[in-house]
Amino acid sequence: MASIQIDQVSKIYDGGVRAVKSIDIDIADGEFIVLVGPSGCGKSTLLRMVAGLETISEGTVSIDDRIVNQIEPADRDIAMVFQNYALYPHMTVYDNLAYGLKNRKTPKAEIETRVAEAARMLEIEPYLKRKPRALSGGQRQRVAMGRAIVRKPAVFLFDEPLSNLDAKLRVTMRGEIRKLQRRLGTTAIYVTHDQLEAMTLADRLVVLNGGAIEQIGTPLEVYHRP
Ligand code: ADP
Ligand code: ADP
Repeated sequence: MASIQIDQVSKIYDGGVRAVKSIDIDIADGEFIVLVGPSGCGKSTLLRMVAGLETISEGTVSIDDRIVNQIEPADRDIAMVFQNYALYPHMTVYDNLAYGLKNRKTPKAEIETRVAEAARMLEIEPYLKRKPRALSGGQRQRVAMGRAIVRKPAVFLFDEPLSNLDAKLRVTMRGEIRKLQRRLGTTAIYVTHDQLEAMTLADRLVVLNGGAIEQIGTPLEVYHRP
C-alpha cells in the first residue's frame, strides 16, 4: 500500500501543448482513483508522469512522500497494465509472469509460488505453457493483470486496460480488477473514457477536461449533482 501525492503537476510537450495543467490530487492508501474524460484531455499523460515514464514539466509526484523521479526505475514499486497488454510474444505465459521477478533477482522458489498464486487468482493455470498468440483477448488481458500482481506492487496504474475486450468481458474483468485490488490493498489509478466503467470502479473520480480537473469526488457526488 502507498499514498500518492500529485502536487501542482503540469505537462508542456515540445511544441507547446499544455496537456496537463496544475493538477493536485492526494490519493490515500488503498484508494481506487479513476481518471475519466474525453480523448485528448490529458489522462494518459498524467498517468505516465505518475509512472515516471514521462518527464514532469512543473510540480512533483510523490509516493509515500518520496519524489517519483528521484527513485531508480527498478526500485519504483509500481506495476502498469496497458490497453495493448504488452506481453512478450516469444515467451510462455509462465515466463511472461515470471519476467519482472527474475529481473529483480527473486529466488526461483519464490517466483514459482508467486506465479502459481497469481495464476490461480486469475484462473489462467491451464495456459501457463502457452504463448500469448494461442490465447483469446480476454485470456491475454488476464495474463497482463497477472504480470502486474505477481510483483505485489504498492501501486497499480491502468491505462484503458479493458478497451480491446467485448462488452460482456469488460464487465466481468472490471469486477475482477476491483476484487483483486481490494484483496491486495493496492492503491490504484485507472484511466478510462467510459463513464459507466468509471462509476462502477472508482472510490473517487477525477473528471479531466482540457488538461485540468473539472470535478473530483465519489461517483455519487460527481454524477448525481442536481
Ligand atoms: P490515447 O488517447 O489512447 O492516449 P493517443 O492517440 O492520444 O492515445 O496517443 C497515442 C500515443 O501517441 C501516446 O504515446 C501519445 O503520447 C502519443 N501522442 C499523442 N498525441 C501526440 C502528438 N500530438 N504528438 C506526438 N505524440 C502524440
Ligand atoms: P488522453 O489520454 O486523455 O487521451 P493524452 O494525455 O494522450 O490524453 O493527450 C493530452 C494532450 O497532449 C493531447 O492534446 C495530445 O495530442 C497531446 N500529446 C500527448 N502525447 C503527446 C506527445 N508525446 N507530444 C505532443 N503532444 C502530445
